[in-house]
Amino acid sequence: MIKFNLKCEHGHGFDSWFGSNKDYEKLQVRGLVSCVICGSCEVSKAVMAPRLAMDPKAPDLREKPLIDDVGAKFPEEARKMHYGETPERPIMGQAKLEEARALLEEGVPVLPMGIKPKLVN
Ligand SMILES: [Zn+2]
Repeated sequence: MIKFNLKCEHGHGFDSWFGSNKDYEKLQVRGLVSCVICGSCEVSKAVMAPRLAMDPKAPDLREKPLIDDVGAKFPEEARKMHYGETPERPIMGQAKLEEARALLEEGVPVLPMGIKPKLVN
């Protein structure tokens, strides 16, 4: 037995059990798979998140952070953007105190976000 997450043309999501993927396909082709909510036979397998993550062709939105974490390259990247060497984008990363101060003195807008807590053994 295999469980599929199904979705009808109206966007109703529901689970259904089938003997196998082939069984599902046979029933689906004959219009025997119908939505439990509205009865529509226009049913397809819903895309499941873990599958999406494994498919290299699918754009994985969860992996795309809004802020680019450039890590220790932060001072370098911030400076490049300030001087127009790279297109502006929101970045975050680490900078030593004196590096952050130097950036501020150059007029690069940086915002201290606190220090990541160190793990205590
Ligand atoms: Zn439906």
